[in-house]
Formats: sequence, structure tokens, C-alpha cells
Amino acid sequence: MTALTRRTMLAGSAAAAAAFTPFASMMPAGAAAPVTGTQAASWYRYKVGSIEITVVTDGLNQFPLPADFVSNMKKEDVQAGLAAAYMDKEIFFNPYNPIVINTGSKLVLVDTGVGETAFISSKGKIGQNQTNLLAAGFDPKAFDAIIVSHYHGDHINGLIKADASIAFPNAEILVPAVEHNFWMNDGEMSRAPKGRMETNFKNVRRVFNADVMKRVRTYEWNKDVIPGVTAVGTPGHSTGHTSFIVASGADKVYVQSDVTHVPFLFVRNPGWHAFYDQDPLAAEATRRKVLDMVANERMMVQGFHFPFPSRAYVEKNGMNYREVIASWNPSI
Ligand SMILES: [Zn+2]
Repeated sequence: MTALTRRTMLAGSAAAAAAFTPFASMMPAGAAAPVTGTQAASWYRYKVGSIEITVVTDGLNQFPLPADFVSNMKKEDVQAGLAAAYMDKEIFFNPYNPIVINTGSKLVLVDTGVGETAFISSKGKIGQNQTNLLAAGFDPKAFDAIIVSHYHGDHINGLIKADASIAFPNAEILVPAVEHNFWMNDGEMSRAPKGRMETNFKNVRRVFNADVMKRVRTYEWNKDVIPGVTAVGTPGHSTGHTSFIVASGADKVYVQSDVTHVPFLFVRNPGWHAFYDQDPLAAEATRRKVLDMVANERMMVQGFHFPFPSRAYVEKNGMNYREVIASWNPSI
């Protein structure tokens, strides 16, 4: 009996491949496809009951990790947190992920990303929401409303285009009453500390120009913003910071906006105060309450600054929590 050696097996399979590959002779040896160097348009769709949600990314901001990024921790501790999450210790990765909610009767966008001006200046790294909306089949003219969670630039700047005209010409702009009243109050603006708060007041007044203001309608916490989408007050990150529960039938998702910033740092360390938090202690109290609730209820979380497509569950991990990425599904 002939023993099959590795060599005879390889020779046999090579001969078989040559015999059974009809186009083998047409393949130029060593033909390499050119590397593309570009990413696909990025959106991801799923259902909550009969409501369709499409996560439409605005891109990924990357910048050197600032020394004061977490105000109550040393930079080395934050770097250790990044290393524990297999992230670059020197560069902070900040994803922006607005969502489209289609209830069947209303088409709305929740938060806008940083807008066309940033798209141009970043050469398309951020501010992608508008181009990705088109790629996902959404005409900006088709939106009934834009729901705003809070008045930081990454959530509102896309309300207007680079020439300051309205980006969504037929949409009402639904804003949290508490947040709107705070940022539109001239007394609050005059008392704003120099630096981030002062800059943000100026940005809010720039974005909410006369055309935008004509379309603004305020909404209240603990009420439906539109049918199926309930506003939940989650203050601390900003005065009127708002999250949403999207519910249909027995299905629901918690849209946490910026209750936690990137989960790999702030779900895992809810006591860390990101420098974006306007009132750090209130933000931490809100964060612990929300994380406890979504962990206990095993509710899926949609997070604006979670890595695309920014869906995760949260589970308890001793005194802290950790995120468990929700699985991708190619069918809706
Ligand atoms: Zn944000």
C-alpha cells in the first residue's frame, strides 16, 4: 500500500487545482488589486418593534490625549485605561454616531454631528453625517424633525451648512426646554467661565441663527418627543442633557446620548469625570443611575460616542460596569 506523504498530497492537490480551475490559465501571475485607502459609507440599520433605527456615523475624531482629559484622574491612569481597552495610549479616538428614527409616520434624526464646515476642514474625517445619510437613502429634505439631545457642537453643528443655511429644510428642530433656556439665557452667558463654556455659548448662538430659531420647538422631560420616543432628563454632562427611550411593542432601546462618553473608559470607570462634563458630580450621579438601570433591565444602549454602530449592553463588574457589544445582524 502506498503511504500518502505530505509531498504527494500537496502535489496531488496542486494537480487537482490546475485541472479543476477553468480560468487558471487566464489569471496573470501575481496580479494585485490596488489598495483603495478608503472606507465604505457607514450606516447600520436595526428594528425596535416596528420602528426602524439607522445609525449613520458622522466619523471619528482623533487627537492627542490631553493631560486633563479626565479631570479627577492622572493622565497615566487614563493611558492605563486606554491600554486596557487595546487603544493607543497617546491618541484619543472619539466617534460621533447620530441615529435616524423612522416610526413609519415620522422620520427624525437624533443629533447632527459636527456639520459641513468640519467635514471640509477635516477632509472628511468628521462631519460625514450628511454624506452617509445620502448613502443610506435619506434625503435631507425628507426629515420631519431633528431631535437635539444637548447643545454641544458635535450634536448641533450639523443643523446648518458651511454657508449657515439650514441643513434639513423641512424639519422642525425639537430641543430640550431646560437645555434651550440655559444656553439662550444672556445672564448665564455673561457668567460663563472663560474657555470651554464661553466658547460653547458662542457656538450655540452661532448655530441657532434666525432661520434655525424659527424652526425650534421645545420638548419636556418624561413626555413623548414624537410617538415612540420619550425624553428622559439626564443632566450633568450639560444642564439640560437628555436621553431617550425608543419603544415599540415589548422592544426598547435606551439612547443614552453622552451619559457616558466612550464606553471603554467611562462605562468601565463611571467615577471618572471627562472634561466635557459641565457639572462633573451631577454627571457621575446620572451615569451611575443610568448604568445601574440598563444593567438591571438588560436594555440595549445606543451611545453617541460608542464605537460604530454604537450599540452595547452594560453589565455589572464589581463596583463598576463593562460594555458588551451588541451583535451585528445582516438582516433587519
Ligand atoms: Zn458629545
